[in-house]
Amino acid sequence: MSISTHTSLAERLNACIRNVPDFPQPGILFKDITPVFLDWQLCNDITDELISRLKTKPDAVCVVESRGFFIGMMLAHKMQIPLVPVRKKGKLPSETRAYTYTLEYGSATLEIHKGVIKKDWNVLIHDDVLATGGTAIAAAELVKAEGGKIAGFAFIVELAFLSGKEKIASYTAPIESVISY
Ligand code: AMP
Repeated sequence: MSISTHTSLAERLNACIRNVPDFPQPGILFKDITPVFLDWQLCNDITDELISRLKTKPDAVCVVESRGFFIGMMLAHKMQIPLVPVRKKGKLPSETRAYTYTLEYGSATLEIHKGVIKKDWNVLIHDDVLATGGTAIAAAELVKAEGGKIAGFAFIVELAFLSGKEKIASYTAPIESVISY
């Protein structure tokens, strides 16, 4: 695919996001971002765009399993800051702190390794999609419980009709996404 230099980043991203109806359950329109990863330049530009919207450099980026890991690692690498993974229950091998929450579909428990976040670190939260906001809140609560502060939220996609942004607004600004549906 050749991309015009006049095509906006959001348009290029939109062209790569695959809408999968009724996945993983009826009624959910799943935003499949795996085609985005076929395009290294697009991944690079998404990362640069999210970084450009931050007013200050965070001390670390906290990324949510599993689709938050991809661009999350690029954010950490480009900003030259630590990456702290938040994972589903039972995946992290050392001592963990847990937080249980409700998803757009079902419920889940996320965990973070204890003692990794340094006191008063300003931590950017990153995930692929902001839907209802439950996952982002879980990550933010885990970071705060570990002594960190929330520096902002960065997503590839926001599902604005689910009002997740309103739910996480009390934590901090900025709350950024490259594309909003
Ligand atoms: P939520 O906690 O409701 O904001 O959901 C966000 C998390 O669930 C992210 O980790 C997303 O990967 C995933 N997710 C929720 N809804 C969707 C969707 N419609 N398409 C793709 N991923 C979704």
